[in-house]
Amino acid sequence: MTTHADVLIVGAGPSGLTLGVDLARRGVDALVVERADGLFPGSRGKGIQPRTMEVFDDLGVLDAIRAAGGSYPVGMIWQNGERAGEHRMFDPAETTGDSPYTGPWMVPQWRTQEILLARLEELGGRVAFGRELVGFDQDAEGVTAYFASGADVRARYVVAADGGRSTLRRTLGIGMTGETVDPSPMLVADVRVTGLDRDNWHIFPPSGEGDGFLAICPLPGTEDFQLLARFPEGASVDLSLDGVRKLVATRSHLAPEAVTEVRWASDFRPRAALADRFRSGRVFLTGDAAHVHSPAGGQGLNTSVQDAYNLGWKLGAVLRDGADAALLDTYEEERRPIAAEMLGLSTSVHRGETKRGEATSQLGLGYRESSLTEETRETPGPVRAGDRAPDGVVEGMRLFDVFRGPGWTLLALGTTGAPDLGEAVPVVRGPAHETYGTGLFLVRPDGYVGWAGDSTRGLGDYVTRVGLR
Ligand SMILES: Cc1cc2nc3c(=O)[nH]c(=O)nc-3n(C[C@H](O)[C@H](O)[C@H](O)COP(=O)(O)OP(=O)(O)OC[C@H]3O[C@@H](n4cnc5c(N)ncnc54)[C@H](O)[C@@H]3O)c2cc1C
Repeated sequence: MTTHADVLIVGAGPSGLTLGVDLARRGVDALVVERADGLFPGSRGKGIQPRTMEVFDDLGVLDAIRAAGGSYPVGMIWQNGERAGEHRMFDPAETTGDSPYTGPWMVPQWRTQEILLARLEELGGRVAFGRELVGFDQDAEGVTAYFASGADVRARYVVAADGGRSTLRRTLGIGMTGETVDPSPMLVADVRVTGLDRDNWHIFPPSGEGDGFLAICPLPGTEDFQLLARFPEGASVDLSLDGVRKLVATRSHLAPEAVTEVRWASDFRPRAALADRFRSGRVFLTGDAAHVHSPAGGQGLNTSVQDAYNLGWKLGAVLRDGADAALLDTYEEERRPIAAEMLGLSTSVHRGETKRGEATSQLGLGYRESSLTEETRETPGPVRAGDRAPDGVVEGMRLFDVFRGPGWTLLALGTTGAPDLGEAVPVVRGPAHETYGTGLFLVRPDGYVGWAGDSTRGLGDYVTRVGLR
């Protein structure tokens, strides 16, 4: 027996769930399959960057994410059982009219995934758990996916959101090019600990040569702490309760019994690697399947969400609105350079060469060089085609309120006359804007300016290309 779907999403991590939500709200027939029997239980990617907060606002999960999280606590450096000084991971930043979220918001990854799953279900979608993809065939019309058990799935497109060890990527023979960032193994674990306050991120620096650091961070909305420790090269990492107790007792002033529970634990060696391609025929790679990197700087989950957000509207445009399938080529074109940049950034933060803050917020990323970007003004202003469309107020209307939802928006600022692109594209008219400047700005469903002009010349061809008519 074979089940049919327009899009098969393999993996219910942050990337697969985000894409599931985006496609569900577009009315695209998508199926998310997940190998495990439930969602991933660890807190690992716990920092939600400002740009992802904007995406979550658009996807309708921001309130839940806000309620589940908290801002990053100030680091407390401990030496010989004494508080020896504070360490701020991020420079404090003020919210501004064009970017309402600052600093990363801390939410354990498992909670973020629960929130995305709840939203997916609210929109009528679902995840089929216990479904491990083991192989697939593709032809000109679609892909047939095979599972360890259960029915085959025939889909027009497949998205590999199946993580760093991606079965789909390997089956396609797509290589990963990269390097080891740090040969020292790391332990990440969710633990219950007594004797530490929940107002600080507790940092225990290495006490000598050949030793590694230990950091214990309270996780908002839970009684857990996320423990992170670095080990000397070649050391083996003990993930058991006893092993974690020994580690904590050796590297801090706490007694072994202070660790009362290890709820989840994993070890890894930070690596930075980029898939040679993000697409092969009808299969797209997103998230960790396309790029793996050091957790330093908190870019992994965020980049995975942004990949899905870039691909979602394009799949919707092709499958629902009749856009030319060539639109899908722009996914790799736009996302691979961003992923490459993010890998460099994560490695540089890991090595202490770049400070977290503006660079890690992902607010400055954009697609100016994309073939999907058309800047037709003779003298572009501060916001150009390809840039993220900032928030702001025009004639009393908040732009992020207008942008929210799966469609496009046309801004006509300081220009006379704006074309009518039909009911699906609201038009916001106003005087020249201090953030945007002057012009017509056609804002994509994922919040980037796709096309900008002084007049409507060239706009018609653009809207046809992207499936707007
Ligand atoms: C130890 C560790 C610490 C990290 N710390 C941070 C951090 O501090 N900040 C940050 O931003 N990021 C961090 N990350 C990265 C972040 O967790 C990942 O970038 C993020 O989870 C990637 O999301 P994803 O959806 O692409 O993949 P994943 O979250 O890996 O999800 C992939 C899903 O696919 C499923 N799957 C796999 N194979 C199959 C198959 N054949 N069939 C069906 N389903 C399948 C898996 O079970 C899994 O649920 C960390 C990662 C690790 C490993």
